[in-house]
Amino acid sequence: MDVNLEILPLSSWVHDVTRPVLISGPCSAETEEQVLTIARELVQQKITFFRSGIWKPRTRPNVFEGVGSKGLPWLNTVQKLTGLKVTIEVATARHVESALKHSIDVLWIGARSTANPFVVQEIADALKGVDIPVLVKNPINPDLGLWLGALERLNKNGIKKLAAIHRGFSVYETTRYRNIPTWQIPIDLKLKLPQLPVFCDPSHIAGKRDLIFPLSQKAMDLNFDGLMIECHHCPEKAWSDAEQQITPDDLRILLLELKIRADHSDDLKFVHNLEDLRERINKIDREILDAFGKRMELVRRIGDFKREHNVTILQSQRWEEIIQNGLARSLRLNLSSDFITGLYKQVHDESIRNQNLVMNAGKGMEIGN
Ligand code: PEP
Ligand code: MN
Repeated sequence: MDVNLEILPLSSWVHDVTRPVLISGPCSAETEEQVLTIARELVQQKITFFRSGIWKPRTRPNVFEGVGSKGLPWLNTVQKLTGLKVTIEVATARHVESALKHSIDVLWIGARSTANPFVVQEIADALKGVDIPVLVKNPINPDLGLWLGALERLNKNGIKKLAAIHRGFSVYETTRYRNIPTWQIPIDLKLKLPQLPVFCDPSHIAGKRDLIFPLSQKAMDLNFDGLMIECHHCPEKAWSDAEQQITPDDLRILLLELKIRADHSDDLKFVHNLEDLRERINKIDREILDAFGKRMELVRRIGDFKREHNVTILQSQRWEEIIQNGLARSLRLNLSSDFITGLYKQVHDESIRNQNLVMNAGKGMEIGN
């Protein structure tokens, strides 16, 4: 899947791109006084964007669903009195129109909307010809295609100031997270779109306050550009997401403790050592591939024997033995059992595929696994 988007650098719409660029504010706007109190405290923490949900996508009805468009002028007060730029979630064309009418600076698309191409298209169409930055949260389900698709739909309609927000994925099981992070997905997104700025929203991944710091640190270590963190002056009393919001003072402490590492160093000794270690890794990788090649050669020879003697491909006892030997050895080598089990499963699948080819050559039975 090739994606070719024209994305402007973060510096074209963010004055200071020093990591982490911060988006912070309450989950929901509740009253004018509440947003203004929080914004005034957050301005001290050098945040770049003040967030606040106006229309809230709630799982069940009959709970607080946001104050609606009457909250938009409150955000204009925040802009006027604090100088902060403001951002809100939009989920319909009507939301977009109201947001634009009220000079909202940045829009974001929520996780539930990203999962729905009809919704994304409606938002993209409402934004045609408008020059406004749009942040796209990952879809609630772990699907890179939908995330990319949403970015593509916006970009096709002329939105070039784009960024992604990683907020985790929902699963049915109870885990320590509200939404599991599955970091591989935002990493794959960055590999496909290296020019796309990526933020992390540790608040919605965590679902509770105590995981916000380690998740923020992890995001910084993975070189994310910024963080979206929910802050409330009185979190326990928040009208939505009360367990995961922190106070502006908690945010101050979090920022003090956060270690920001550079993505490279020009120190000659460091560069030299890194090159040396990487060259050694390349050599080992070549050896591993050669060894796999040789292994498959032997597997095919066994396939020949089995065909001659009319013996089945799969012999579960032998497979058990291979896995057990591997696991025993991995323990001594400091390799995790999950890694070894996964690796052996791949090797086993490929071995069966190879033997199947040998044993059924020319019979149109070369099925994969
Ligand atoms: C939010 O940011 O308040 C929100 C509803 O987020 P998400 O779309 O990630 O659930
Ligand atoms: Mn929230």
